[in-house]
Amino acid sequence: MAKPTKSTPEFSTEEKRNASVILNRIARRYPDVGTALEYSDAWQLLVATVLSAQTTDENVNKVLPFLFEAYPTAEDLAGANPEAVERIVFSTGFYRQKTKSIMTLAADIIDKYDGEVPRDLDNLVKLRGVGRKTASVVLAEVWNTPAIAVDTHVKRVMHRVGLTTHTDPEKVESDLKALYPKNRWSGISMRVIQFGRDVCDAKRPRCWECPLADRCQYPDKTLPPTP
Ligand code: SF4
Repeated sequence: MAKPTKSTPEFSTEEKRNASVILNRIARRYPDVGTALEYSDAWQLLVATVLSAQTTDENVNKVLPFLFEAYPTAEDLAGANPEAVERIVFSTGFYRQKTKSIMTLAADIIDKYDGEVPRDLDNLVKLRGVGRKTASVVLAEVWNTPAIAVDTHVKRVMHRVGLTTHTDPEKVESDLKALYPKNRWSGISMRVIQFGRDVCDAKRPRCWECPLADRCQYPDKTLPPTP
């Protein structure tokens, strides 16, 4: 089990090797995986990611073409009529808050970065409504920049297999960054998220068919359903 640490975590060669084997097995199951959100640039992925809170990517993809046709740029969205935006994003849920969030985001991108989405974590998280998770998704997905987004799936899977003892996303991120070389960072999150959805489900993990079962430290492994 990884040791809890305060600053930069340190892991043994054996722990790093174990982490590598775990990721290799997940990568074998998901050789090509990326976000299901449909976007054409960093700006669109940022907006799509904000809209994807508490709903499915499929739902978000249904509204994106309408949204970007009506407001192609951050400047267009920043100057939009909020009620018109609310009507477009309504079906993604929490539409008032989401409208406010994407319009604020648009305004920030113009005011702080002259309409260009910044390409580094420190500046991305200065945008209102953009946390480390969203920023890391954009960095890894759009520019293949080394970044690890920690969402609920990444947190759960990595905790169960023993690669972290933390539940705080930032500390989980630090552990993973210490366990894996930089060139693997951008390939972690989307694969583990998919694995968490398909196999290592929060309530009913499919341990009996899990490729990580022999390496996993989860004490309540499940058996196949009886016929
Ligand atoms: S053995 Fe079970 S708990 Fe462990 S990673 Fe696999 S599905 Fe998740």
